[in-house]
Amino acid sequence: HTKSTGRNGYHFFESSMNTNAHNQLQVIQDLRLALERKEFRLHYQPKFNTPDGTVIGAEALLRWQHPTRGMIAPIDFIALAEKTGLIVPIGEWVLDEACRQMRIWHDEGNRHWKVAVNLSAVQFSNDDLIELVKATLARNSLPPYALMLEVTESTAMHDVEASLAILDQLSGLGIDISIDDFGTGYSSLLYLKRLPATELKIDRGFISDLAQGGDDSSIVAAIIALGRSLNLRVVAEGVETNEQQEYLTSLGCDTMQGYLLGRPMAADQFIEAIHTTAPIEKVHSVSAKGTS
Ligand code: C2E
Ligand code: MG
Ligand code: MG
Ligand code: MG
Repeated sequence: HTKSTGRNGYHFFESSMNTNAHNQLQVIQDLRLALERKEFRLHYQPKFNTPDGTVIGAEALLRWQHPTRGMIAPIDFIALAEKTGLIVPIGEWVLDEACRQMRIWHDEGNRHWKVAVNLSAVQFSNDDLIELVKATLARNSLPPYALMLEVTESTAMHDVEASLAILDQLSGLGIDISIDDFGTGYSSLLYLKRLPATELKIDRGFISDLAQGGDDSSIVAAIIALGRSLNLRVVAEGVETNEQQEYLTSLGCDTMQGYLLGRPMAADQFIEAIHTTAPIEKVHSVSAKGTS
């Protein structure tokens, strides 16, 4: 079986490879060694305030630079990492690395930027999460307001009372909470109102449908209105076209992330891209030379 290089430059495994038991065992063994061998990388995707084209922060996205398989996307190993519990030490590394990088960016003068780190359900329900976050911020001398944790709607709503307890503690530390992939779960509005979140991220699936004027446009409009009424920042992720950006703007959504505005990229490329960016027109040309 061959690997094909996708449009992101990842090597996507054929599904037969993913389900092949021998291959899975090999991947699990490799995963166990990947931290020691320093094979994980974080790419950063800029998040824009679109009316003025300013960057407000970045989402840290995990990649695995495998010695023989090339750059592996999270979809090909996060589930295995969760199943084996390896997501806990990997997630600790992600948090520390993202904070270390944001400390550097803050020192370079970008003090209003926040770094967003994705948490899997396993990490989210880990008893040590609060202490881990505190210790990681302290180790990197990063103020809590510079960190945002992204939890998917389905993770947050799985056990609502437990989630509330965890999120209240995190929010009490001064950290921002984002509800990721919003619209795909079944949130009770009453619970949503109680969550100490500051941000809702509209799931990419709804955004991709927008240009065709499909049914999803009314869902997106409703989510934006809902977010506003709950005083949450609403972020559209996966914005790929000017039409999508314009439509979202017309609905009052002014925070966006997507290939149109900037692809996920290594930290050194990120700064270069941002420094040649200011007005939103220029952002488009930056995205053309994005890498991942
Ligand atoms: P997510 O948190 O919803 O991240 C957004 C995904 O959409 C990312 O995929 C990003 O590269 C992709 N994306 C951004 N803009 C566009 C666009 O315009 N078009 C398209 N087609 N895609 C876009 P990625 O990096 O492959 O990550 C996939 C998922 O893996 C993430 O979804 C998140 O759930 C998970 N993940 C990534 N990094 C981590 C991590 O450090 N820890 C954990 N637990 N999960 C992670
Ligand atoms: Mg996310
Ligand atoms: Mg998402
Ligand atoms: Mg997602």
